[in-house]
Amino acid sequence: MRLPQFDYKGPDTLEKALDLLSTHAQDAKILAGGTDLLVRMKKGLIAPKTIISLKALNELSYIKKDKNTIRIGARTCLADIIASDSVRKEATALSTACERVGAVTIQHFRGTIGGNILQDNRCFHYNQSAFHRSGRQACHKDGGKICYARDESDRCNSTCQSDGATALMALGAKLVLVSKGNERTVALTDFYTTDGIMPFAMEPTELLKEIIIPVEGGKSSYQRLAYRSAIDYPIVCAGVLLKASAKKDTIEDARIVVGAMGRAPLFLAKESSELKGKSFTDTKAFQKAGNGAMNSASTFAVHNVGSTLEYRCATVSEMVFRALQEAVAEASKA
Ligand SMILES: Cc1cc2nc3c(=O)[nH]c(=O)nc-3n(C[C@H](O)[C@H](O)[C@H](O)COP(=O)(O)OP(=O)(O)OC[C@H]3O[C@@H](n4cnc5c(N)ncnc54)[C@H](O)[C@@H]3O)c2cc1C
Ligand code: SF4
Repeated sequence: MRLPQFDYKGPDTLEKALDLLSTHAQDAKILAGGTDLLVRMKKGLIAPKTIISLKALNELSYIKKDKNTIRIGARTCLADIIASDSVRKEATALSTACERVGAVTIQHFRGTIGGNILQDNRCFHYNQSAFHRSGRQACHKDGGKICYARDESDRCNSTCQSDGATALMALGAKLVLVSKGNERTVALTDFYTTDGIMPFAMEPTELLKEIIIPVEGGKSSYQRLAYRSAIDYPIVCAGVLLKASAKKDTIEDARIVVGAMGRAPLFLAKESSELKGKSFTDTKAFQKAGNGAMNSASTFAVHNVGSTLEYRCATVSEMVFRALQEAVAEASKA
């Protein structure tokens, strides 16, 4: 499979990148590590006329820690996040999630955190070669009017399989989006649309500049299930954050997020708030949260990312339960 022809632009400042984006937005794509973008181009899923590479934009590669936040530049590679002591200690779920992405080659040489969050949703009916897809009627995402994953659906139900986004949503992260003359900050929970054709609520002129993670003393963890331990996407994953009360005996706040079960990672508000006030040793409450998460997440998932839908739904509760137990174990070390 060959790459289609395109015009390559390699700006060396953010300002130049935003200028290029404002001019070419409608037919351009940003290239960070390329491990998602180039695969899609080779499969003929997209054919941007212009590629704006972030390769020379070292100003977007950093991890900065201050009193209340960790700020990560969007072009920071996954290996730098894995190697960061601050991230490991204060945003453990993200560190673990980055370790699980693809394989060492993706983490060390190419994959960035921005690209990880903004990788396109996937679906095994769609993520095929152009030749394979030409043998059947086009689905919504291919410009048609049907969805193979959900009968009579008026939209695309492709699945977000980003490990990083699931962990970051559990951590309560925000994204800083920039375009020429504009900057805005949006909570990751508000960043998704309800249509897998364009899953992200961002403009074509916008670039992801930074990820802001609040660090307020909570303990987080991340669990995922995939067919293989490397070179594979999650078929179910869960990120959790637990904050202890002042006396450290009960849970003051909790965030449970389930990934690879819908068009976006799912923040489960009800199951999260039900853990407030519970003891860190209340295993029954964790089991209940896991079962609740399974019931809530199951309504969003469709059979389109491998394994059977029944199996994926059934394993949500275990992923959430394990993540909660791991966060408790982290909290007990503090
Ligand atoms: C074999 C294989 C296995 C994989 N396994 C996993 C896995 O287990 N878990 C997982 O989460 N991912 C997985 N991936 C997907 C991908 O490799 C990673 O998510 C990686 O982190 C993507 O980063 P990138 O920099 O290469 O993204 P790119 O391919 O460069 O970009 C991805 C998308 O984001 C856009 N983009 C990138 N940066 C910006 C920015 N700053 N502003 C605006 N738009 C931007 C690009 O235009 C593109 O549409 C896998 C990929 C492969 C090929
Ligand atoms: S979920 Fe449906 S519309 Fe979306 S890519 Fe898959 S088959 Fe196509």
